[in-house]
Amino acid sequence: MGIPSRLLPIQDAFGDTLKKLMDRIHNRLEMLELSRDFGTQNYEQQVVELSQAAAEAGLQERRVYALHLRRYNDALLIHDTVRAVDALDWLRDFYDKERATKTQILQAERWLLALFDDYKNELAHLATCSPENPKLEMLEQILREQFGGSHDSPRGIIFTQTRQSVHSLLLWLQQQPGLQTMDIRADLLIGAGNSSQSTHMTQRDQQEVIRKFRTGTLNLLVATSVAEEGLDIPQCNVVVRYGLLTNEISMVQARGRARAGQSVYSFVATQGSRELRRELTNEVLERLMERAVAAVQEMDEAEYQAKIRDLQQGALVKRAARAAQRESQRQQFLAEEVQLLCVNCMVAVGHGSDLRKVEDAHHVNVNPNFSIYYSVSRGTVVIDRTFKDWKPGGTIHCRNCGEAWGLQMIYKSVKLPALRVRSMLLQTPRGRVQAKKWSRVPFPVPDFDYLQHCAQNLADLSLD
Ligand SMILES: [Zn+2]
Repeated sequence: MGIPSRLLPIQDAFGDTLKKLMDRIHNRLEMLELSRDFGTQNYEQQVVELSQAAAEAGLQERRVYALHLRRYNDALLIHDTVRAVDALDWLRDFYDKERATKTQILQAERWLLALFDDYKNELAHLATCSPENPKLEMLEQILREQFGGSHDSPRGIIFTQTRQSVHSLLLWLQQQPGLQTMDIRADLLIGAGNSSQSTHMTQRDQQEVIRKFRTGTLNLLVATSVAEEGLDIPQCNVVVRYGLLTNEISMVQARGRARAGQSVYSFVATQGSRELRRELTNEVLERLMERAVAAVQEMDEAEYQAKIRDLQQGALVKRAARAAQRESQRQQFLAEEVQLLCVNCMVAVGHGSDLRKVEDAHHVNVNPNFSIYYSVSRGTVVIDRTFKDWKPGGTIHCRNCGEAWGLQMIYKSVKLPALRVRSMLLQTPRGRVQAKKWSRVPFPVPDFDYLQHCAQNLADLSLD
């Protein structure tokens, strides 16, 4: 008699190979204090901090190892959520881009590129024969029950964490043989932000998808949390929260979608996983919330008003304190005494005083001499969203090493290089800093003034 198959340990040769490569990178790094809890959020945090510390200390090779480790860790997280092939695509895409854009390659990078090359065929082989993710099996079962015929005109939404997993899940839906016979007409619904450059929708696209879903042209949406609030989406028979880490409010909102007759609310996560623990916590918090609401309803009017006033005053004080703290951080150095260095090759390319703020968010370098330090890609960056005053041009790269720095903003008729904060290392009088956000840099940056910029450039021309 054989052992029942469900008691066999799950073989994960693909994941194990990724971890083996990460081990080899760690051995090169020679930092024994680093933990090797690959495939976790904690590990991600560790390598993000490592790459920042290495940039500030001028340790280029260490920074590169940390960046690549982060990619491998992303791949493990994707492998855990969706399929091994999706994880491999993520890595392949990264290495293809590295090869295409970098012009100055460090020894560490050469070694990392060769390491991936050595293993990419083996990884591709393991990805195609790796067992199905148990979460996907569960999802398939739920979809079969809902879309397999017993309901007339079923309608559902699958919520998942990232845009990346939305795309992977949609692809899986389209390719999974077991679902081909079912009447599933799916599309994706994701946010309209512009944080990453090609993977979002315009508001018009969003409205179009929702319209099709309402009229029944589509009957299944794969969505990030955008659809959990705000958007006007019809009720569903089935709402699946797929491997999510969110709070009790999203849970209540998602459940709220499942109000149609005989609706089903499912939560797909691995037994004993962090997502599952979070979901159980959410249920407890939801009950607490109900009790809190009941308590508030029993308060008398005067007591209630006084409580609200207290809370509002507290919030105002907190906000003022935070603003003062930001302001004092911005005044640490004069903008002209902070140098901008390429984060990769550390060539000095300008000063803080060359920067201006556009729409209170983007940071552009307005110094005409800056153009000698970068090159512009021929293609145009695709951002599926229109902005009031500008449109995107090409991506810009360090002319010395090829590091991606950001994109060209075409502001009315002027082309301006907009820099990602992560692409610049700040050399301050008290050492190097890699800022996480432009709003946190230790010097003031004035707003961009279009008329003044044009007048200045004309004056420069007439002096020649
Ligand atoms: Zn560079």
